[in-house]
Amino acid sequence: MSVFWNSRTRGLLPYVPGEQPKDRAFIKLNTNENPYPPSPRAVEAMRRLLAGEDGRPAGESLRLYPDPVCAEFREAAARAYGVRPEQVFPANGSDEALAFAFGAFFEGAPSGGDGVQPLLFPDITYSFYPVYARLWGLPFRAVPLREDFSLCVGDYGIPASGAVIANPNAPTGRALPVDGEGGLSSLAAALLERGRVLIVDEAYAAFGAESAVPLIGRFPNLLTVHTLSKSASLAGLRAGFAIGSEELVEGLFRIRDSFNSYTMDRIALAGAAAAVADRAYYDAVNGKVIATRERTAAALAALGFRVLPSQANFLCIRPPEDSGLGGNALFLALRERGILARYFNLPRIRDYLRVSIGTDGDMDAFLAACAAILG
Ligand SMILES: *Cc1c(COP(=O)(O)O)cnc(C)c1O
Repeated sequence: MSVFWNSRTRGLLPYVPGEQPKDRAFIKLNTNENPYPPSPRAVEAMRRLLAGEDGRPAGESLRLYPDPVCAEFREAAARAYGVRPEQVFPANGSDEALAFAFGAFFEGAPSGGDGVQPLLFPDITYSFYPVYARLWGLPFRAVPLREDFSLCVGDYGIPASGAVIANPNAPTGRALPVDGEGGLSSLAAALLERGRVLIVDEAYAAFGAESAVPLIGRFPNLLTVHTLSKSASLAGLRAGFAIGSEELVEGLFRIRDSFNSYTMDRIALAGAAAAVADRAYYDAVNGKVIATRERTAAALAALGFRVLPSQANFLCIRPPEDSGLGGNALFLALRERGILARYFNLPRIRDYLRVSIGTDGDMDAFLAACAAILG
């Protein structure tokens, strides 16, 4: 605490990101980064931007501000997702798109929260959601996942200022269908009737879940949020985007342009545009991640772990009952053996660990360490 902090700053509970160790000794399975390199076309686009071709000095293009409307990147993303560029909002990582969306679409409490309907999201989900809700002063309600950590859209039929669903969910890895009963479209329809927005965070959709983007045309209240950090191997670039109706995208630009009109720099715009266009490369890379996930899940189950079904690039696992190991004990034992996983000291998932899918070699080392720890 500092006397210079205002009451807003004092009241914040900031998000704590997973550890990024400086020494490279760890097998890093704690922040869901992709173990494979980004598209060579993306790297080449960024290199070309910096190289200063056509006889210009290196870095010359950085003298000028980037394109505030991010036309080239939005066109590339629109082509990749079958939408119009006006339906794409460019962001400095999808966290930024989420932060702006919380501020743009959900109702804050004028005085103490009375009379304002809460924003809804699951009790176990991406822990940035309550952080953004507090930042913007939005009353929220955590809707419990079912016993098996599945999400039931019927539980969201209560009065609300909107809802946010990660699909697949994190850190469980479970995914919802888009259509049919119990699908995301029924939730979008119920919220549309009440004039409320549904955000679907698709950070992990490329690892085996259905995307809700095809619903965008039918639901002007639906915003899907996408990141290049996980499935496009570009966590270090900070690039993401949201897709929704033009009115939602315009709302996001109103918030952005009340903060900072240049959230994506020239390098990120060039790399991100080339990355979203290189579907073939990423389908191959993420296909490998999925195959490794399935193999790892089967091996963990054989060791007696409970493994939640995952459509993401991580597994949520609980050590065998008879091992006497809790989530934190397993986390520490793995760390001692040079393997970093993610432990959440939160109700209901205290006994679990989230383990990102690395290369086959990474996962062999992880499985060997698990076997050794179980003895
Ligand atoms: C990693 C993650 C993000 C953040 O992505 P960035 O684009 O790196 O900001 C958003 N949502 C979920 C559910 C995530 O796991």
